[in-house]
Amino acid sequence: MANFINVILPIPLELSFTYSITEEEAKILQPGMRVAVPFGKSKIYTGIIFSVHQNPPEAYEAKEIHEILDDYPIVNANQLKHWEWIATYYMCTLGEVVRSALPGAFLLESETLVLRNTEYEIDESELLDDEFLVFEALQHQSILKVHEVSAIVERKNVLPILQRLLEKKVIVLKEEVYEQYKPKLVRYVKLGEEHASDEKLEELLNSLTRAPKQSQVVLSLFQLQAKSQKPIKVSELEKSSNTSKAIIKTLVDKGILEEYFIKTDRVSYDGESDNSETKDLNEFQEAALVDIKSAFGENKVTLLKGVTSSGKTEVYVKLIEECLDKGLQALYLLPEIALTTQLISRLQEYFGEKIAIYHSKYNVQERVEVWQNVLQSKPKAQLIIGARSAMYLPFSKLGLVIVDEEHESSFKQFDPAPRYHARDAAIVLGHLHKANILLGSATPSVETYHNAQTGKYGYAEITRRYGNVLMPEMELVDIKEESRKRKMKGHFSERLFLEMEETLKDGAQIILFQNRRGFAPLMECLTCGHSPQCPNCDVSLTYHQYRNQLRCHYCGHHTALPESCFACGSSELDTKGFGTEQIEKEVTALFPDAKVGRMDLDTTRGKHGYEKIITAFEQQELDILVGTQMVTKGLDFRNVNLVGVMNADSLLNFPDYRAHERTYQLLTQVSGRAGRTKKRGRVVIQTYNPYHQILKQVTNSDYEGMYKEQLYEREQFKYPPLNRIIKITFKHKNYNVLNEAADWFSGALRSNFGGTVLGPEYPPVARIRNQYLKHIVIKVQKVHSLAQTKANIRRIEKSFKSVAMYRGVRVIYNVDHI
Ligand code: ADP
Ligand code: ZN
Ligand code: ZN
Repeated sequence: MANFINVILPIPLELSFTYSITEEEAKILQPGMRVAVPFGKSKIYTGIIFSVHQNPPEAYEAKEIHEILDDYPIVNANQLKHWEWIATYYMCTLGEVVRSALPGAFLLESETLVLRNTEYEIDESELLDDEFLVFEALQHQSILKVHEVSAIVERKNVLPILQRLLEKKVIVLKEEVYEQYKPKLVRYVKLGEEHASDEKLEELLNSLTRAPKQSQVVLSLFQLQAKSQKPIKVSELEKSSNTSKAIIKTLVDKGILEEYFIKTDRVSYDGESDNSETKDLNEFQEAALVDIKSAFGENKVTLLKGVTSSGKTEVYVKLIEECLDKGLQALYLLPEIALTTQLISRLQEYFGEKIAIYHSKYNVQERVEVWQNVLQSKPKAQLIIGARSAMYLPFSKLGLVIVDEEHESSFKQFDPAPRYHARDAAIVLGHLHKANILLGSATPSVETYHNAQTGKYGYAEITRRYGNVLMPEMELVDIKEESRKRKMKGHFSERLFLEMEETLKDGAQIILFQNRRGFAPLMECLTCGHSPQCPNCDVSLTYHQYRNQLRCHYCGHHTALPESCFACGSSELDTKGFGTEQIEKEVTALFPDAKVGRMDLDTTRGKHGYEKIITAFEQQELDILVGTQMVTKGLDFRNVNLVGVMNADSLLNFPDYRAHERTYQLLTQVSGRAGRTKKRGRVVIQTYNPYHQILKQVTNSDYEGMYKEQLYEREQFKYPPLNRIIKITFKHKNYNVLNEAADWFSGALRSNFGGTVLGPEYPPVARIRNQYLKHIVIKVQKVHSLAQTKANIRRIEKSFKSVAMYRGVRVIYNVDHI
């Protein structure tokens, strides 16, 4: 009987592909193993075996596989089930999920491969448009093949671009099939066999009397070996003997020492050994823990709502401890940006070597190592801490899933597909493993809180800060009024200024929050009102004073600051609005003695950029930290007594149904950075609308009020949580084609769904990198089947794609768009 396998290829094609295998191969091949298979005329792909069976494909003759790449499955059955769910739910292909789930090094391919050069920090602004596209693609996908590069830049001959990228050190090229992952080898030394006995050693030392340094090395090695059975690293010996690598090498060359290698893990923890006692919980934490466990007992996903600094982490720690004691794995998901050394070292104190971290800033090698450790349920991978992609790891016995800061919108992947929400996908994963699932936040998303309110989720709360520290005192300052009275110093109200003075006098620190980077969002001509636009995107350029440039925040385009208006030639140009850069500058002028730092996308680009600023602030090398929403995320600074919000209105005016919820969350989170120790913190929020409902709710910590109001509005306007939304984006470089295509599609949708289709509409920035964009939003009532709706959309897409003119239009689905 003939044997076949179905293989998932990491490409955006709907189907899995059938290949024929031999009888022998059928005996060893299992789902989850990798095979190299031919595809199309001449390509070779790595695919994941999805099933082994005996049904020949109907439409084509099955090809044979090229090579078996694994001895055992690197993807397990639960993962395959989970990934299928992701593909179906988020309307993408299984291949796209595989591409996003597996570390790039697992997906070997023939042909020339383009890799990101990770040795260099790239300044995106130095890249031309086509170069940037490749660079950007390499952020999502660690390897690109030449023809994929062609598709990305829409050009056949891409070698000149690759040449430029090579010169700029953005990429490296690799040829042919190769195993990219190389475990790191560590050099160890031991005494050569013939010197092993005591007499021989003495002989040896005598012979070295004229080479004191060499004999010092031998002695040290002897001492080290006496102390412990552990292999001795060259670097260790170098240190303990106080000599150099050269001298050790001489001894190796002479055959006195023997050098050998052991495969080790790159991702290791080299702190003190683990297991400090976990902290005793206070009564409020204890009560929350009891509630959580009782909800777990009913197999409910559970929400822990605890005010900032209430000690949620210590509650997680207890749950993790129990989970690990049972021999199960725990997954702790965090927004990327909250994944700081601060938190990690806190957890390492308790769990030491049992922790593995899975992070986008880790290189391919490090990720493969974590993958393997989890796959083999190694002791050093019992607690996995990571951002959203950590939920793709090959867990075999997951006992607990924690999603911290569950309200964070960065849990939703935006681009490329799968556009999944890591919180929701992690819940599905948890269910597959029958694991306990806990969502934590001080400001839960309206969805999650709704689920808790309606009893779908369990609920626990902590309403007090740990150690009876008071919640910060909040104050709204009317900047319209202050401007009228001429009390503003730049963008600082008198209130804020005085508070800052006071705080600095006390030797405490200050955080200033402004949700825009750069110096000023707009440059405007005072004569004709023109403001310079990006040539590639429909958006105004942002003024960056530091570089004396106008920059586009969508495509990186930049030009030198113009001396006169492009439109009328007038030299009277002015800036409008303000960003972090301007605030930093003003603060420095207002408080010349204070040390000021800035944390935004511009100052945190490097691998450790973010970490460095946090550390400097933590160690009080800085008095004032100016930042974008980066400063709001879960940081625990001890000495911050004042938080200033420069302008709350820019948050409120965002054109999105979540703007109010987000404003509440953001302002509450940033306020939570103040006064985390004994002294009561203060928060000053500057606004033109001090009577705005949301701002009042923030200052009164009235989450309930915010929730009720938002829920009511969402009900009225048919938004989540009572409805689901699917957003469809159309993308094309020709304006007319795009319009026609979007109209055609929405027309077809309307005749299917009636009134629940919105659009097509242009987004606020309707052209990015010379591609026009248009959106359609579909609202699906909970009573209707979401699966049915998706099937309908798919059918429409099929007819759509059969129209020749629309074939080049990209159709992008975003299910549960947020
Ligand atoms: P949250 O995550 O809710 O904002 P954290 O877990 O960061 O709060 O706790 C705030 C601070 O209180 C931390 O510095 C933490 O070490 C301390 N803390 C919390 N719970 C305890 C406890 N049970 N015993 C001692 N210190 C605690
Ligand atoms: Zn002008
Ligand atoms: Zn642009």
